[in-house]
Amino acid sequence: MDDCLFCKIIRQEIPSLKVFEDEHAYAFLDINPFQRGHTLVVPKFHAKEIFHLPPEELAGMMPALQRTACLLKRKLGCDGMVIQQNNAPIAGQTVFHVHFHLVPCYEGVPLTWQPLDPKPTMEELQALAEHLRA
Ligand code: 5GP
Ligand code: ZN
Repeated sequence: MDDCLFCKIIRQEIPSLKVFEDEHAYAFLDINPFQRGHTLVVPKFHAKEIFHLPPEELAGMMPALQRTACLLKRKLGCDGMVIQQNNAPIAGQTVFHVHFHLVPCYEGVPLTWQPLDPKPTMEELQALAEHLRA
């Protein structure tokens, strides 16, 4: 879709910090992470909310979702992970292309559902993405 932020990221028209990609899905670091390694996994097929995503596209992106989750766990050594997907503004959705949040959880680091403060620098996020892709 022409004016969709995440479609533009998938097409590389807007820069992003890629973590993983396959035929069906694209995974990249959230620019305002709630925890270290907070990653978004999006289907390459544009759909505003999960209600509109063809089931075969949803099924097609699940291996990438799991691979990305395993990658984060292995590379970051997190103790757990929340996977969340918001639909419509009432549910907290702000970008209208289906996406799953993968939020690593660490013992002793409370998850506040707020962006980390201080926010990681672009250099830190770049280094993290490189570490995850290596
Ligand atoms: P939502 O609130 O729609 O479930 O989540 C949207 C997420 O997209 C937010 O966590 C926000 O930080 C992230 N986000 C918004 N714009 C950009 C962007 O340009 N690049 C990246 N990497 N993440 C973005
Ligand atoms: Zn889109």
